[in-house]
Amino acid sequence: LVERMRAFGTTIFAEMSALAVETGSINLGQGFPDTDGPVEVLDAAVRAIREGHNQYPPGRGVPDLRQAIADHQRAYYDLDYDPDREVLVTAGATEAITAAILALCEPGDEVIAFEPTYDSYAASIAMAHAVLKPVRLDGPDFDLDLDRLRAAVTDRTRILLINSPHNPTGRVLTETELSGIAELAIERDLIVITDEVYEHLAFEGVHRPLATFDGMRERTVQISSAGKTLSVTGWKIGWVCSTPELITAVTTTKQFLTYVSGGPFQYAVAEALRLPPERIAEVTERLRSGRDQLREGLTAAGLTPFRCQGSYFLTVDVAELGYADGVDFCRDLPKKAGVVAVPSRVFYLDPGPAMTYVRFAFCKRPELLAEASNRLAALA
Ligand code: PMP
Ligand code: GLN
Repeated sequence: LVERMRAFGTTIFAEMSALAVETGSINLGQGFPDTDGPVEVLDAAVRAIREGHNQYPPGRGVPDLRQAIADHQRAYYDLDYDPDREVLVTAGATEAITAAILALCEPGDEVIAFEPTYDSYAASIAMAHAVLKPVRLDGPDFDLDLDRLRAAVTDRTRILLINSPHNPTGRVLTETELSGIAELAIERDLIVITDEVYEHLAFEGVHRPLATFDGMRERTVQISSAGKTLSVTGWKIGWVCSTPELITAVTTTKQFLTYVSGGPFQYAVAEALRLPPERIAEVTERLRSGRDQLREGLTAAGLTPFRCQGSYFLTVDVAELGYADGVDFCRDLPKKAGVVAVPSRVFYLDPGPAMTYVRFAFCKRPELLAEASNRLAALA
């Protein structure tokens, strides 16, 4: 393995899911739901297979899905994208992010991202021979310090990579934070990649795409995915919306990562994006009550969950239970309580006080969260 990739090993999510299987624990580590999304979406996928949509779809995605993505952007955010020139379908948001970074970074260019940082970002940046410059969001509230962000920009900065609602902190950026990012991007002529995979999972505040701010549409590479919104994380249908020039650039690298993927699922996601907003809101509400339920369970276990405004995840500080390292806690947790979680320090280059933060996923059925809460009570 080349030197620049050696630090990456096995992803924490694979490692923790294996630990859950091995120990028979409830897996609140890797973020994936234990129920499927709306039944009509599942039926649409079966129908697409039966109707024979099983060969390579077009390189940029099936036209019906690109149209549905453009319609969704207009309906929810009043953003206009040309489905033929400004939309690209990808193998999940993961491929979209990698393809964008590979397309836009020269070796040595700097990419600024929030820390804690979703794990694939650092690897994608390394693959491009670019350099990750983390800007820390500090607990307990994980507010963005705009002065800190500004100070991180250098002559080598090429990209701001932002994620809201944010994994793992659950933070939803405010209007003030977003407009500060927009101002800086324009002033320093930066491209912003926005990871909006949790766009429909903001429980407090509203999700507003950065591309809706003045002067931002032309410098934003907006990325989302069907996995979280529709509870179909295994389908890996993602997309990118941007200018024709930026979409052409990202398509160039995307072509040689997967070329295309998920033919029949693309048809199903097109139908899903056209569901009435109430059907999507049902998914959001289910996750909101999952958050509330697990928050109570963690509180009863003697922990104080940090504020979570969106996403799939709650964070606690296990220093409250006397631990000096979240990894030790996560190693003990299957034995002590039959539950698996993720030590948040893996999302930091230098964790500092986050050394003892631990992330729990709440995207699970109420019965499972109740059982997990019962088990966690053993910690109190
Ligand atoms: N970005 C963030 C912040 C995520 O949490 C995830 C997946 N959990 C992804 C990207 C990847 O999305 P996909 O599964 O669509 O590749
Ligand atoms: N995004 C999910 C999480 O944060 C996991 C995705 C993955 O396994 N790569 O848990």
